[in-house]
Amino acid sequence: PIPPSAVAVDRLSKNYDGILAVDEISFTVPAGSVMALLGGNGAGKTTTISMLLGLLTPTSGGITVLGHDMLADRYAVLPRMNFSSPYVDLPHRLSVRQNLLVYARLYGIARPRERVEQLAEALDLTGFLGRWTGQLSAGQKTRVALAKALINQPDLLLLDEPTASLDPDTGDWVRQYLKDYQAKTRATILLASHNMAEVERLADHVLMMRAGRIVDRGAPAALLARYGRNNLEEVFL
Ligand code: ATP
Repeated sequence: PIPPSAVAVDRLSKNYDGILAVDEISFTVPAGSVMALLGGNGAGKTTTISMLLGLLTPTSGGITVLGHDMLADRYAVLPRMNFSSPYVDLPHRLSVRQNLLVYARLYGIARPRERVEQLAEALDLTGFLGRWTGQLSAGQKTRVALAKALINQPDLLLLDEPTASLDPDTGDWVRQYLKDYQAKTRATILLASHNMAEVERLADHVLMMRAGRIVDRGAPAALLARYGRNNLEEVFL
């Protein structure tokens, strides 16, 4: 049986005043799987994710998320989605606890304080709950951003370069955490990355993007076998 799709994108395009950032891409993400958008700078990954989040209006094409038309009906699904990127600043002048409580209340979590404590423990942030978010290291901020993204136990989690700017050990820790979290919850994850090692570790399927198009797709092992690791990294990233 074909698993139902958590995401279905149909001939999606985004033209920024003449710059065709995303050019008629189509793909589906089976529910409960991890899909990676792999591509170098300017490939169109962030633009695609922004359209999936309803933050950018597509020039043309369709997006269905969790069975709803994102363009007509996004408020039906936004509460079941979440997003994390180390590039998006968290409010600096709030404590970590305040920051997470704001998001917990925003999503109408039943016992917000308990949820925040529980996530802090899972992400090794308990000792930092009282600190100003602006004072944290990049690795600690990334974990706060992840806690924020998991606050509503999203059915669809979008991650833009989740381990960019982390040192190798912290990056490994975050990847392992995401792997375990996904295995436990079976959430659907769509992640953008230019790191093949990260994609190999986390993704079931890969969409290779270049200049706004999907130029190839397949399981990480199949792509590595087809191109070889060096070619894959040199030609596409
Ligand atoms: P990166 O890894 O560098 O973030 P990306 O794959 O996420 O790259 P996008 O950020 O989606 O790529 O950019 C795709 C193309 O769209 C690039 O050529 C970029 O310059 C252009 N672009 C992105 N945002 C805008 C904007 N607001 N206005 C005009 N052009 C834009």
